Formats: sequence, C-alpha cells, structure tokens
Amino acid sequence: MNTPIRVMIVDDDVFFSDVMVHSLQTLGVTQPLAVNSGRQALELFKAGLRFELLLCDLNMPEMDGVELLRHLATWDFKGGIVLLSGADQVILEAAKALAAAHHLNVLGAFEKPLTRADLSVLLERAGSQPIQRTLAAQDSSITPEDLRRGIASGELVAHYQPRVEMVSGRVSGVEALARWQHPQLGLIYPDRFIPLAEQSGLIDQLTQAMVALALRQTRQWLKAGLYLVVGINVSIDTLANVDFPDELATAAAAAKVPLANLLIEVTESHLLDRLNLTLDTLTRLRLKGIKLAIDDFGTGYASLEQLRRIPFTELKVDRQFVDGAAANARQRAFLETSLGLADKLGMFTVAEGVERLADWDLLVTLGCHEAQGYLIAKPMPPEALSHWISHWRAPGNPLMRQASSR
Ligand code: C2E
Ligand code: CA
Ligand code: CA
Repeated sequence: MNTPIRVMIVDDDVFFSDVMVHSLQTLGVTQPLAVNSGRQALELFKAGLRFELLLCDLNMPEMDGVELLRHLATWDFKGGIVLLSGADQVILEAAKALAAAHHLNVLGAFEKPLTRADLSVLLERAGSQPIQRTLAAQDSSITPEDLRRGIASGELVAHYQPRVEMVSGRVSGVEALARWQHPQLGLIYPDRFIPLAEQSGLIDQLTQAMVALALRQTRQWLKAGLYLVVGINVSIDTLANVDFPDELATAAAAAKVPLANLLIEVTESHLLDRLNLTLDTLTRLRLKGIKLAIDDFGTGYASLEQLRRIPFTELKVDRQFVDGAAANARQRAFLETSLGLADKLGMFTVAEGVERLADWDLLVTLGCHEAQGYLIAKPMPPEALSHWISHWRAPGNPLMRQASSR
C-alpha cells in the first residue's frame, strides 16, 4: 500500500477492539485508534481528527452506530465505512440503506468477528479511493456560483463505463458519468457536486450539459460503426420537469441520435415519494422509445412490485448486493430473488459493481443479462473506448470463456 491509511474503530466491546487493533497493526496500519462510543468518535472528528476508514459497531449503548452515521453525514464524511454487528443481518442491511441514503461511502457490512483477510481487502479498497475525492471533499469550498460557472464554461466532462452482455460478451452500451475538470482543484467526482447541484437548483443545467456531451459522443460512435446504448443519470428533480422528454427528444434529433440509443437511469431511493410528480415524465420518455432503468436497486425501500407501475425496461442491481455475492448467502439470495422477479416482470437485468470473477460466474448462473464493473472496465474518457474494446474482444479474456466455447 503506498499511502498510509488512518483507521478508527468504534466499538464498546473492548476485547473485540483490541483484536482488531492488533490485526490492523499486522497489516501495516501504524496507529489504529479505538474508541468505545459513538460520542467519543464524534468529538474527535469535530476536533479535526481525520481518518480514511471507520470500522463501526452498530449496537452500542449511548450513541449507537446508526446515530453516529447520521452525524457523520452532516459533516460530509467521505472516508470508507465498515459496519459491524454482533446481532443480526437485518440491522446491518437497514444501516446500509440509511448510509446509502445519506451518500456515505459504505465499503461493507459484516457480522462480527471480522477476519484478517476481510480487513486486508477493506484496507485496500479504502486506500484505492482516488485521492482527489478526499481532498476535494475536505479542503475545498465548492460553491454553487463556482459550479454554475463551471457548467457554463464547459468544465464538465463525461467518462464512460462499458456494459457487456454476460453470455455473448458483446459490448452493448456505456454509462455516462459526470466529472468536473476544475481549474484549481483538478478532476472532481460526482459525489462531490451532484448533491450540491440538486440543492442549488443547478441540476437541470448539469443534466443538459451531460445530455449534450453524451449525444455528441454517441453520434461519433455511431458514425464509426459502434452501436452503443448510452445511459444518462437523471435526478428526480429533473423528472419533475414535464418538458424534459420533449427537450431530450429535440436534442437527440439535432444530434442525429435515435431515441432507442438512449437509456435514462433513475435511482430507486425517493422515487416512490414523488411518484405523482414523475410518473408522467417517465411514461412519456418510454412512449418515445427511450429506455428506462431503475438504478441502485436495493438501496431504497421500494420493492419491485411497487415499481411495477412505472414502465421501466431494466433493473440495475446496486453494487452492494453484487460485490462479494458469491461468498455471501444473503447477498446471493437477494440477487437471485431480484433477478428472478425482474425477469418475470419482463425487465432486462444488469449487475453493477462486478469486481470479482467469482461474482461474474455466479451472475451468469443466475441468468443476469448484463454486467458493469471494474472487472470489465473502469469509467474512461471517450477516446479510450475503442482501444479498450479491441482488448476486450481479444482471445484469452477469461470473462469471454462462455462466449468462445460455444
Ligand atoms: P451510479 O449511477 O450508481 O454510477 C456507478 C458508480 O459506480 C460510478 O461512480 C462508477 O465509477 C462506480 N463503479 C462502477 N463499477 C464499479 C465497481 O466495480 N466497483 C466500484 N467500487 N465502483 C464502481 P461515479 O462515477 O463516482 O458516480 C457516482 C454517482 O454519481 C453515480 O452512481 C450517479 O448516481 C451520480 N452521477 C454521475 N453522473 C451523473 C450525472 O450526470 N447526473 C446525475 N444526476 N448523477 C450522476
Ligand atoms: Ca447510474
Ligand atoms: Ca447505480
């Protein structure tokens, strides 16, 4: 590991903390800090102590882990969080959902005890987060004015992450992901500016800019003979704008991109709260032939049955249920049920966050249609895509076994 990682353990069980401190030290963490209540952790944090990884017990007297998470969210904590529970998986899943709703960066949820192997993987993940994310999150004061200026002067760029069909290996599409090339702060990731754009009424402008970038790029790929469906993330606030479907269709026509090449991704959380406002827009997008995806499925509270009223064409299962599923019976059960039900409802299924071969193999067995994740490719600038595709198609790619053995 090249950067030292600062770790904090919050657990009222002193014996367990000691074991963790010891394991972390053997893994090269110089001074893991253990405290035995959420309150202590919060005081240290308020006093300016910073860490990249937080291991947090959920069941503690006084301030419990869930409450600590809520406080950390208000302080915009961007480090990795690992949830631990001696009790049961149901509490863990609930805490995960809460953390996701607050945009906290949860790396995993575990029943105690945590093995040294688990810790090692978690440290690696916490350490591989792009540094800019942490810096931008802590040191900068990005203001709405700055963001407005950035969008207007063309500083937003789109990176594209490929999606592939699991059985054939064919590259079916890409997801456009916003990045902000800031003149002073460097490349900033969306977790840092999307919430700000949503809060400050700039999200429609941001979406428009992303739509323009994605359309121009898709047109270029089409001209080069690459038929790719491009996924665009759209916030609920934008869906509340009844003119959005027409604006999108007009922009696509001007860019000479067929509407069937477009996929709108809508995150599941809060969708049901605002269904009356958004159902009209979603239905009209679909009537125009634009594809519609439920994004981050599993992080909110909606069930597929409830989402049936919306004419979604596909389901994207959130990475927290995908990553590690081959080794976790509960995750596997969730995947199996979600994929099965989506299939029955006639929806196309996509797994997000596929990082390991074992999970890929499991998804193939479960009949998932497509996959997206670091195992296949990370998001990349558009000019890198055709180069990546030629490598992806190369013989010897282990993910293409099924395809080539046919
Ligand atoms: P998302 O829609 O769930 O996008 C997928 C995120 O997961 C991307 O992060 C991607 O880099 C990351 N990812 C993909 N594969 C893997 C993997 O195997 N492992 C791990 N650990 N991560 C993986 P990114 O680009 O930072 O985007 C974060 C979120 O920001 C997106 O989540 C989306 O909700 C939002 N976002 C991005 N662009 C836009 C946009 O143009 N408009 C709106 N409204 N939201 C956007
Ligand atoms: Ca998405
Ligand atoms: Ca997603």
